[in-house]
Amino acid sequence: MRIHLVNPSDVSFGTAVITPRWQYVLAAATPARHGTPLLIDETLDPIDEESVQPGDLVGISIHTGNALRGYRIGRAARGRGAFVVFGGIHATLFPDEAREHGGAHAVVTGDGDLVWQTVLDDCDRGNPQPLYAGGRVDGESFYPARWDLLPKNRYMWASVQTVRGCPKHCSFCSVWRTDGQKPRQRDVSVVVREIVELRRQGFRFIVLADDNFYPVTLADLAAADRRADKAQHAALTRIRDERFELMARLEQLPNDIVFYTQITMEAAEDPAFLTAMRRAHIRGALVGIESVTPEGLKAVFKNFNETGDGLVERLQAFRAADVHVLGSFIFGLPTDTPQTFRATADLAERAGVSFAQFVMLQPLPGTIDFGRWEREATDVPVVDGVPLTRYWLIPPEHRPRVYSPHPMMTADELRAHTQAVWDRFYGLNLVWTRSRFLKSVRARLAFVLISKLYRQMYANTGIATDSARIQRSALRARWLARCAHRLFASDPMPDLREPRRVPAVTIP
Ligand code: SF4
Repeated sequence: MRIHLVNPSDVSFGTAVITPRWQYVLAAATPARHGTPLLIDETLDPIDEESVQPGDLVGISIHTGNALRGYRIGRAARGRGAFVVFGGIHATLFPDEAREHGGAHAVVTGDGDLVWQTVLDDCDRGNPQPLYAGGRVDGESFYPARWDLLPKNRYMWASVQTVRGCPKHCSFCSVWRTDGQKPRQRDVSVVVREIVELRRQGFRFIVLADDNFYPVTLADLAAADRRADKAQHAALTRIRDERFELMARLEQLPNDIVFYTQITMEAAEDPAFLTAMRRAHIRGALVGIESVTPEGLKAVFKNFNETGDGLVERLQAFRAADVHVLGSFIFGLPTDTPQTFRATADLAERAGVSFAQFVMLQPLPGTIDFGRWEREATDVPVVDGVPLTRYWLIPPEHRPRVYSPHPMMTADELRAHTQAVWDRFYGLNLVWTRSRFLKSVRARLAFVLISKLYRQMYANTGIATDSARIQRSALRARWLARCAHRLFASDPMPDLREPRRVPAVTIP
């Protein structure tokens, strides 16, 4: 039984930005008796369906964005006599759909780390179960990824997870519902070992692919203090101390290493944390800004974010600590007006964010917004025989980009305004000006290239509605990605030693 692990994608770029970590983790969770899985990442190249033989196992992980492509692969693999197993966040939410549309023999819900071995044994005996509940695995039980299986020179950034789960509850996000609100941190030494292995191989750009790298805020600690809840305070302090321990060890790595992560804006109020991030070579972070108005933040349950000058100050605090922000903004909130677009673009410039993404509001399954939308939707439009509340089953070229009517703007207006903000933010002049913080011309050119690549991959293929434009964008992104990849490559460091342990200290 050969095992194929497939990361589905409608568009292949030849070179990919980030390693799909799940494939390398499941490869590590595969016992030697089942052989080494074949890893197929369709963001690089499409799967060769002929390679699937009767009796093979095809494991497909899907999120909502690539579910339809995953289902096509699943049906084709089942047609060729393979066992088909689905997992990932979307299959966790819709296991029946994976069986109905994707030809799944089995669906794994939750974390696959521990249950994967049982799935393989059952398939090997020809007796897969319809459902395997992986649950939420403890941080200590996460498998380190098998980076020895990485193809050479295909990815720009490697990905390592240090914590899973997020204590917040934003209405548009499913992370806190699927991964839980309790942060599950991995053992520091295990994380550091993985990172060292990647740097030895020649990766110097690594994404810390966490739901929220800052799971305990100063406000959380103060609240536990106020309630005189000693147990909670001790638990939070332990999580915080481990963050600092991790960063103290990352600090000892070579200076050329660059980490990037995802974090809430509250970290800007924690100078000790920001300083530790800078020392740990964490040079960038995605920060969910979402909306620049208080009404917008209230609409998405993100009142802990600032607006106006307070927002600019917080974002500048990251910049002052040399942590460059990829600001994430949502357009299409019911509170948005035609003025919101300009105000957002102005703020992104004023706050000095290095990169930005402007996403159109989309009700994602598993979120509060989706539940409300599905419950309240009346006269749901049907496209290609699919109700809009199952929009991911509509072929991408026919899929609407706006899902609920906006009180003030048409779908085309929303799309045009959003595209205009992308165009403005990634205009060559502004990108070149933003690159001023870099000293060498080479580094500034790399910044320009990455900015353009980011825009091609996420703005043009994500917002465009006609397939010809999507294909042209994909071709341009493919070309840019090839150039950018050279800038990210670096020499291996086979003799790099692991950073020494640091004594545990409680950071105030
Ligand atoms: S959007 Fe970010 S902060 Fe909000 S719940 Fe999701 S991961 Fe947490």
